[in-house]
Amino acid sequence: MDMKIPKEVENIIEKLQKNGFEAYVVGGCVRDLILGREATDWDIATQAKPEEIQKLFSDSYYENKFLTVTIRTGSKKNNLKEIEVTTFRSEAKYTDKRHPDEVKFAKTIEEDLSRRDFTVNAMALEIQSVDVGRQNIEIIDPFGGQKDLETKIIRAVGNPEDRFGEDALRMMRAIRFACQLDFTIEGKTLEAIGKNAAWLQAIAKERIRDELIKIIMSDKAADGIELLKNSGLLKYIMPELEKGIGVSQNRHHIYTVYEHNLLSLKFAVQKKFNLEVRLASLLHDIAKQEVKEGEGPEATFYNHDFVGAKFAVRILERLRFSNEIINKVALLIRSHMFVYDVGVVTEAGIRRLLKRVGPENMQDLIDLRIADRLGSGVPKAQPYRLRHFQYMVEKVQHDAISVKMLKINGNDIMKILEIPAGPKIGAILDVLLAEAIEEPEKNEKKYLEKRVKELAEVDLTQLRQMAKQKIEEKKEEEDLVIKGKYWVK
Ligand code: ATP
Ligand code: MG
Repeated sequence: MDMKIPKEVENIIEKLQKNGFEAYVVGGCVRDLILGREATDWDIATQAKPEEIQKLFSDSYYENKFLTVTIRTGSKKNNLKEIEVTTFRSEAKYTDKRHPDEVKFAKTIEEDLSRRDFTVNAMALEIQSVDVGRQNIEIIDPFGGQKDLETKIIRAVGNPEDRFGEDALRMMRAIRFACQLDFTIEGKTLEAIGKNAAWLQAIAKERIRDELIKIIMSDKAADGIELLKNSGLLKYIMPELEKGIGVSQNRHHIYTVYEHNLLSLKFAVQKKFNLEVRLASLLHDIAKQEVKEGEGPEATFYNHDFVGAKFAVRILERLRFSNEIINKVALLIRSHMFVYDVGVVTEAGIRRLLKRVGPENMQDLIDLRIADRLGSGVPKAQPYRLRHFQYMVEKVQHDAISVKMLKINGNDIMKILEIPAGPKIGAILDVLLAEAIEEPEKNEKKYLEKRVKELAEVDLTQLRQMAKQKIEEKKEEEDLVIKGKYWVK
């Protein structure tokens, strides 16, 4: 097999081997390498004890209880800057479904692999540097990981129920890997999740959050949520989402609330929207069933945006998301019902919305609305309306051509000419602006001061007329550019 181990990793392994220790590349990077995917990080397992590793690598640190030493390589590549080297481990008894009562050293790589979660994650690479630049690589695969990679299967190492009993987060990890790799979960493994989903309650919310983020950021996010629901895990992550199951909507929707939330997420993923927009897409209608009034095509959901934002805050706080993410998602959900119909939305309305959500959040809000609209399944979807809305947003934010652009103002002119405020000042400013539009280098303080004195001597009526026309033309020209950008007529 044609595999290339980065120099930084090879160097560490070689040094350990030269000092008489076995050392292997292990875990996710082996899986990614065989799949031809870019590895997120490189892990090494070795016979050497933490103190022995540290003695060999001066630029390293050891801080956790999992027998892992982190080595700084000096590499510029993000996934190679720091490499984790972990002493062969075996895991003893678990009494709390989340951590081993003690972490024990293992004697062999096979024993170390046997405590890993899934067969595709339980392979190691043995490397021998044959010559400069040539590597001899052998795959150690005691649990059939290569076969499962080929047939795209996530299968627990050993007895799935025992393994989930040791660390219940593995149930979520199974779904996470299925989503990231587009694999299916093997029957017995899936069955054990369904049977023991409640064990997830023992797991720290931060660990759950991290796996959830990986599911949501994967290309199969919506399938992942469905899998979480069907396996019974969703109840212990976001029970609120299940309340929308079977709740019908109105003439604007063909799907139930739950289906629509999932579909919105699916389209947010398809459009490659960011984490906050994906979370908001999944949660934007989370409170609909709470505020529903009436049935059938005329049912209403007043305030579902505000109540939904509150629900989302509660869910995300419970899952220990950062305040930054929580606030952003809540803002998007609270604001997602903004009006954008051509002819109804006004510039003043858009200015108010911009003030409320902040210009920096406007694109995310529009993205949420796109996902929402696509997820509604109603064919009247009109992308033109959204493009027109984006055009208006840019238009009101655009620094319109105005005398404010000049490096001189009315007060300066009043001082230079020693005259009071009056129409003459406005006329001079207009003429100066028209000239600066024509030749931008004329917008320069010294020049403008000189020009003010010249203009004070001439009849400005006609000059101002021409200036105004010039300014109008320039404004229209800029408007056309913005319209062109959004394909708006
Ligand atoms: P990623 O691409 O997200 O880094 P990964 O497979 O490398 O995926 P990590 O969480 O980085 O996942 O863990 C590295 C390796 O450690 C895994 O491949 C697996 O062999 C082992 N491992 C990690 N977490 C667990 C766990 N909870 N139970 C058993 N083995 C685990
Ligand atoms: Mg990893």
